Amino acid sequence: MRKPLVAGNWKMNGSIDSVKALIEGIKAGVGEVKNTSVAVCAPAIFIPQVQAGLQGSAVAWGGQDLSVHASGAYTGETAASMLLDFGCKYVIVGHSERRTYHGETDELVADKLEAAREAGLVPIFCIGETLDEREQGITEQVVARQISAVINKYGVAALSDSVIAYEPVWAIGTGRTASPEQAQEVHAFIRGLVAKESIEVAGRILILYGGSMKPDNAAELMAKPDIDGGLIGGASLKASDFLAICTAGG
Ligand code: PEP
Repeated sequence: MRKPLVAGNWKMNGSIDSVKALIEGIKAGVGEVKNTSVAVCAPAIFIPQVQAGLQGSAVAWGGQDLSVHASGAYTGETAASMLLDFGCKYVIVGHSERRTYHGETDELVADKLEAAREAGLVPIFCIGETLDEREQGITEQVVARQISAVINKYGVAALSDSVIAYEPVWAIGTGRTASPEQAQEVHAFIRGLVAKESIEVAGRILILYGGSMKPDNAAELMAKPDIDGGLIGGASLKASDFLAICTAGG
């Protein structure tokens, strides 16, 4: 039985004051969340503040990106060891905004996933098709290509300690959510792909849905057999909405 995970992706939002209020709000309500793991992925600069605020609570935290390198002359980057130093459990890799605006390729994302995993972080590995790709009917080809980049280079074992987030790009930040049926179809396809390599990993891996998940659609999405929680962007910036999504998970 997979325990669902709901993870917030704050993206590039927040201030010292707003992060303080958000953390307090989440902590005040997280006791209502019974059978779902909860995490927030904060901008790197706020991670120490998040650690100080959430330490000892039921909420884990993580980064939104990491370097493939361990240390050295890589201006602006954050190493896995630095995230670990500040208590991070998770790190998002391959978010579509990084693929689109920072040119991250399937291969680089695979390398980041491995760097995270090797260091002891749990990668939240984002995959998903654009609207154009969905309309061309190649959604399955796209997600298979993104997953194969990891499996071909690092083996299915690299996924055994990871979380996958299926995020159709056309649903991210658009208010346009995949229907539970559309999402379930792709989630089942993804689990099937992993099962071809390892039935054990496929049975255990969490596959989150991301893309305009909100309090009013979360329960229906998470009720689907292969949807094991959510990666939440916009709605994770408001404690009451984020908590409502977390409680929808169980
Ligand atoms: C995301 O950024 O991962 C995301 C799912 O965003 P939103 O919930 O705002 O669509």
